[in-house]
Amino acid sequence: MPKIIAENCVACGACADVCPQNAITIDDVAVIDDSKCVDCGACVDECPSDAIEN
Ligand code: SF4
Ligand code: SF4
Repeated sequence: MPKIIAENCVACGACADVCPQNAITIDDVAVIDDSKCVDCGACVDECPSDAIEN
């Protein structure tokens, strides 16, 4: 499952836009709802800040 590295996240929303499960919401930083995530990896590829690790 992907994890947000909060100190790297700039809250750009790119990960939320690409998530097919709508599992990511943006607060101060991105937050992944693990109950919705299917571990597809799309958000990891999309993040411009290396703020999501798998
Ligand atoms: S791994 Fe896929 S399903 Fe899970 S949060 Fe990222 S984009 Fe969404
Ligand atoms: S794409 Fe990366 S930097 Fe942008 S909101 Fe998502 S985790 Fe944060």
